[in-house]
Amino acid sequence: MTQGRIQSKKNLLRKRIVDEDVCEECNQESESAGHIVLHCPFAKRFWQAIGFQVPADLDVHELHLIVRPTNIPKTEFSSFVVLCCWQLWKRRNALVFRQEAIPLSRILRQCSEEAKNWSYRHGSKEAGVQAAWVLVFSTASM
Ligand SMILES: [Zn+2]
Repeated sequence: MTQGRIQSKKNLLRKRIVDEDVCEECNQESESAGHIVLHCPFAKRFWQAIGFQVPADLDVHELHLIVRPTNIPKTEFSSFVVLCCWQLWKRRNALVFRQEAIPLSRILRQCSEEAKNWSYRHGSKEAGVQAAWVLVFSTASM
């Protein structure tokens, strides 16, 4: 995804698999990886809801430069960003393949559930990290 190689409409158009590459969420811009996870109006609302300020010119390959809100732990921060992008990508797929526009509140709840699930894979050292993530998502979804 950070290399822009996911099957976004922009890439599918280049491979001539689709006829146009307009984002189905906003119907305005070319659906690139960066558009899906950073700059589509839905993605912007998502990041804003959890306290991020995403620069308008941030490219998807610069995702590691995204500024961490202070309430999100430094430990495993890149995993937090991955979890968010994964949920945004899944939402995009629900929209494209099932015409299902999942609301922001539900995406935030799904992020929270995912954070809980990820905590089972981590040791007790990271337990506080996932608890902080769950708090970020559950606070934002209220
Ligand atoms: Zn869009």
